[in-house]
Amino acid sequence: MPSLDEVISTVETYRNDMVDALTELLRVPAIGPENGGEGEFERARFVRELAERCGFEDIEMYDALDERVRLRLRPNVVARKKGQTDQTVWIVSHMDTVTPGNLDAWTYPPFSPKVVDGKLYGLGAEDNGQALIGSLFAAKALNELGLVPERGIGLAMVSDEETGNTKGIKFLIDNNVFHKNDFIYVPDFGVSDGSVIEVAEKHILWLKVKVMGKQTHASTPGRGINAMKVGSQMIDFLADQLNGKFGALETSFLPPTCTFEPTKRLQTVGNVNTVPGEDTFWIDSRILPQYNPDDVLETARGVARIFEERSGARISVDVEQINRSGPPSSTESIALMTLASAIKKIKGVDAAPRGIGGGTCANLFRLAGYDAYVWQTVDEMAHSVNEYCRVDNLVEDAKVYATVLGSLCLSMG
Ligand SMILES: [Zn+2]
Repeated sequence: MPSLDEVISTVETYRNDMVDALTELLRVPAIGPENGGEGEFERARFVRELAERCGFEDIEMYDALDERVRLRLRPNVVARKKGQTDQTVWIVSHMDTVTPGNLDAWTYPPFSPKVVDGKLYGLGAEDNGQALIGSLFAAKALNELGLVPERGIGLAMVSDEETGNTKGIKFLIDNNVFHKNDFIYVPDFGVSDGSVIEVAEKHILWLKVKVMGKQTHASTPGRGINAMKVGSQMIDFLADQLNGKFGALETSFLPPTCTFEPTKRLQTVGNVNTVPGEDTFWIDSRILPQYNPDDVLETARGVARIFEERSGARISVDVEQINRSGPPSSTESIALMTLASAIKKIKGVDAAPRGIGGGTCANLFRLAGYDAYVWQTVDEMAHSVNEYCRVDNLVEDAKVYATVLGSLCLSMG
């Protein structure tokens, strides 16, 4: 029986092949129709072929119909190595990217990947090419041993992560690709030293507040109701009320509290000598999972009623967007402990489970009743001009995932 250390050395020998594969992957655009692209079809063909080259014999395409793209398909590549049990260890990555934005701003053309000073530049290099290529080569090192694993190895390389997931992860969940006792890793968020394993997310609630006062001449403010003044007083009071009522401190979260931030505001009047009759602003709320976003909405509406009575203005509070978070993934699971010890073994880093305020597609798994763990090592260049991934991170993360797969699927010590 080969050892884990041999598998890890094998991954190291793939270094150049991984760089070549990531370079080839990024040359083929994979932008969703919402962003004006033709989808992932061409890239999926390459991914499927690469999965074959990485030793997968059982590769299934889960194609979601989408009339908006030329070939009417949004492909999902599911590569599996069956195990002796029906339990599978999954690594989920996504093929699609956002648009490059302003092409002139890129020093290295987004679709002509290039390695400079140990960094591979290109659109989608970090998000999510690093994980996709890394997981394929991690699995290759194990597949080449020619053993039948105890637990199966599964790679899901999906479409539509950047624009809603309905043709990607949601489609696979609805098609029962994953089973309740499977292990699920989603390497689509991380920090630069690899010390954070994301296990939970906050609810995201965007509130739109509209204050309707009474417009009048600024020289006679008493004849009107200054909506901007009411709105401004309310913003501060509202934040105090929300922070007081939903004030729990969860040190496992970054940051450790709920946050209620006024962000966007519409212009009131175009001239200086008019008292504005309308003021519209938005609050971006990130709510710890133990709270119900409905209670935040109700509290905000209660504050609005106080200010209505106080000012005579009418105030509406509406939900612009809500993303409920699923329950946090267990921090006591074999899946988490195996990942943490693999990170320690390969990188010498003590990684801790954390919650974040941002949203990742792991939440879809949590909402569907699965524990999902999000980890990778990145400089957080996703969606940036001159996006890159460090070649060392590509290779070291692949070793971490090879260690996870080796430990869980082949009981290697
Ligand atoms: Zn991503």
